Amino acid sequence: MPSINENFLSMEKNYLFINIAKKVKAFTEAHPDADIIRMGIGDVTQPIAKCVVEAMKKGADEMGVKETFRGYEDSGAGYDFLREAVSGYYKSFGVDIPADDIRINDGAKADCGNIVDIFGNDNIVLVTDPAYPVYVDTNLMNGRKIIYANSNEKNGFAAMPDENVHADLIYLCSPNNPTGSVYTKEQLEEWIRYAKKNKAIIIYDSAYEAFITEENIPRSIFAVEGAKECAIEMCSLSKTAGFTGMRCGYTVVPHELYVTASTGEQVSIAQLWGRRQGSKFNGVSYPVQCAAAAVFTPEGQEEIKVNIRYYQENAKIISSALDEMGIKYTGGKNSPYIWFKCPNNMGSWEFFDLLLEKANVVGTPGSGFGKNGEGWFRLTAFGDRERTKEAMERIKKLTF
Ligand code: PLP
Repeated sequence: MPSINENFLSMEKNYLFINIAKKVKAFTEAHPDADIIRMGIGDVTQPIAKCVVEAMKKGADEMGVKETFRGYEDSGAGYDFLREAVSGYYKSFGVDIPADDIRINDGAKADCGNIVDIFGNDNIVLVTDPAYPVYVDTNLMNGRKIIYANSNEKNGFAAMPDENVHADLIYLCSPNNPTGSVYTKEQLEEWIRYAKKNKAIIIYDSAYEAFITEENIPRSIFAVEGAKECAIEMCSLSKTAGFTGMRCGYTVVPHELYVTASTGEQVSIAQLWGRRQGSKFNGVSYPVQCAAAAVFTPEGQEEIKVNIRYYQENAKIISSALDEMGIKYTGGKNSPYIWFKCPNNMGSWEFFDLLLEKANVVGTPGSGFGKNGEGWFRLTAFGDRERTKEAMERIKKLTF
């Protein structure tokens, strides 16, 4: 009989959104006529840009012709045309990332989880709390020690390092899921300084960078001096270009990033990551990479911005309603998430139930993202315009 990885036994039985889906299913069965508005899971709703769809069709057509058919991609790191396109995209906001430092993947979730393969299980992992659950879960699976940096109302849900605490791996996400908060350049400088002092590596998740509206907020950690010697960045086309069902993202591991092995040998993190991916990942499909490259063309950028603006307008509708109700929140400005305090000191799940029962609106309980999320709640701006308006009208009518 095989033994199991018993680290799984110390984890929550289900991923947060499976628990929410179960509750909603039970409610729907009991109230089949309820008109439920879903603002829980952060999935996009607007169709993919036309030029992106055309590029994918063209890529698919090429696969049906002998002369242009493609099998395995040689490197598994992504076609040069896409890596160059991503590199050009970074350049458009002033960040110099060579195409060779970029690896294409099937979305940021996989890389966020898989990157831990190249690090020892004795590392101390620092996660800001609340956080995207993948950072905690994937480290728990390997039995790593996790410590937390508190994001809370006092620091605007932008946790900063504690000089008295040591960490080896640090997860940062800006714009943040779930809180919608962002780090300024100065705050990231502080994290970089802390990482260098601790010889730590920052795993930086920039999946929502396209939602940044303020000029002084970095769209990449590599916009900050010194990051290339201590950070890895993960980004995704899921929210930027509606790729949640297409699956494509990219990870930047700078060639400057090295760690010292126990033998004293200087080891390139990019080399280790390439070795890991070479054995466990066979690349992203050619038509999807063609589609992804179209996102970075001038036409693609124009088209995707239409959808981003649409979601940003939804965010305004949500935050204006909360303003009217006098409810405190973060996010919405540089992020598609609005994170607010549950009225009347209600607990997150208590408020979830109330919202579902009284307004038939589904949101995400903040406590599902960590202990500092208790008493807070997340709504997403990724919904349909009319449904977002309707949801906020229903919420405004509630008495707490
Ligand atoms: N990172 C963050 C912070 C997210 O919220 C998500 C998805 O919701 C992802 C990464 C993963 O996105 P994907 O795997 O679709 O690229």
